[in-house]
Amino acid sequence: MSSLNERIETLRARYGNRLAILGHHYQSDEVIRHVDFQGDSLELARKIDTLSAEHVVFCGVYFMAESAVALARPGQKIHIPDAQATCPMAEMAPAQRVEDVLTALRDDGRLVIPLAYVNSTAEVKAVCGLYGGSVCTSANAKVMLEWALQQGDAVLFLPDKNLGHNTANQLNIDTTERLEIDIRDEGRRLDHKKAQYARLLLWPGACAIHHGFKKSQIQALRLARPGVRVVVHPECPQGVVRAADGAGSTSYLIKYCANAPAGAKIAVATECNLVNRLAARHKAEGKEIFPLKPLACSNMAKTNEERLLALLENLDTATPLSLSDDVTEHSRVALERMLRICA
Ligand code: SF4
Repeated sequence: MSSLNERIETLRARYGNRLAILGHHYQSDEVIRHVDFQGDSLELARKIDTLSAEHVVFCGVYFMAESAVALARPGQKIHIPDAQATCPMAEMAPAQRVEDVLTALRDDGRLVIPLAYVNSTAEVKAVCGLYGGSVCTSANAKVMLEWALQQGDAVLFLPDKNLGHNTANQLNIDTTERLEIDIRDEGRRLDHKKAQYARLLLWPGACAIHHGFKKSQIQALRLARPGVRVVVHPECPQGVVRAADGAGSTSYLIKYCANAPAGAKIAVATECNLVNRLAARHKAEGKEIFPLKPLACSNMAKTNEERLLALLENLDTATPLSLSDDVTEHSRVALERMLRICA
């Protein structure tokens, strides 16, 4: 009996250029070895309309595949090996709640622009498209927040408060101009008085993986390993970003490790599949790369070789992912605004 690896490769060869497999950096090595393109959210989103393949299999979490649906060419079919691979942070901002809160904020007489991190559902992106806002990735959050601030009186940034705060720090937005909003009770606990004075309204969501890194871990590591460099993802809390030697998107972390000199010791605070791959890639160059703490995303891990094979075996009859026409149209507006602004 052939191995899973061989069976997947046989099917890939059989589909030829009718199939393209995309994989997010946080996927495991067993999945990554089968992808045609590997990247972060922005790189993969940009890739979609360059693909001529009829079937695009997206190895990542659900919101990423939804973005691919919104950006797909007519007739292109987007699949995900496990539809249960959702992002808990994206689910912290249900679309109806976002629209209710946004409307309540606008009813106070201010033009509040919604800006969603791509780690949000297609419905939330559609709300952003519909209300003159857009989306951002961790790589372009600074540019997009600057843009959104110029479009109105204030910005509702969601769902990741850490990325919001870290980006605001880069733009020197004073903490007195920011407000973490209370979204409980359908938004009825919103402090309208305080919200009137804030330029940046932050949804209280966070990624459990990146929120799990602590400043104290960096301090302890520096004592134990003098000379170590620490780089972190901006989904980490502000204190972690401040204590690090550098912070940036997945692409930034990859480049940082690639450009570091031989002999460098680098602790990386992000999902550990990526960090372990970087460690293996640069080991021969004499670089020691390791996770600040080995934290893995269990939702990213739902995509594995078994599920990828099961999908490929039935690809021609599998139901591709779909979105309602409204959600496709408005989320596409939000995504295309970002791609245009950051072209
Ligand atoms: S690492 Fe965090 S943001 Fe990324 S999919 Fe997992 S829970 Fe969501």
